[in-house]
Amino acid sequence: MSVRRILTVDADLATLKKKSQPVVAVDDDLRALMDDMLETMYAAPGIGLAAIQVGEPKRVIVMDLARGEEPKAPRFFVNPEIVWASEETGVYEEGCLSVPEIYDEVERPAKVRLRSLDYHGRLVEEDAEALFAVCIQHEIDHLNGVLFIDHLSRLKRQRAVSKVKKAAKTEAEAL
Ligand code: ZN
Repeated sequence: MSVRRILTVDADLATLKKKSQPVVAVDDDLRALMDDMLETMYAAPGIGLAAIQVGEPKRVIVMDLARGEEPKAPRFFVNPEIVWASEETGVYEEGCLSVPEIYDEVERPAKVRLRSLDYHGRLVEEDAEALFAVCIQHEIDHLNGVLFIDHLSRLKRQRAVSKVKKAAKTEAEAL
């Protein structure tokens, strides 16, 4: 397992905007990618990561919503699909490892039903609500080349990107 570089909007916007392709087989190569993604997410640290965030345009997501002292609870989603979404919506303050240090409120369906393949390629259908619903919708957006800042106004989005650019520049100068 290895920690990969996480792509960010200042330098890698074109890649992050790519639509990821469905996975054909859940095999050892894919599991190696999922293991790397999980390690990368834990190192960041973050609660969710899509493959495109490490530069792989595959429909794969890793997630761990365990808090604080709770034992680790890694989850893997291959070719995830939302098959139902509630009319009821919820607003949550989101952030993203590809848009560091930026947080803003996004409104999404409060509950969704999800169909995906797990780490072993088994089909799983499950309901998601609360943070799980927010996170899986945020990550599936990534697979479609959509960032959470794309849900904000154009002005807020531009401000967010220039803030990330400025921070990256300051960091580079400090090295
Ligand atoms: Zn994200």
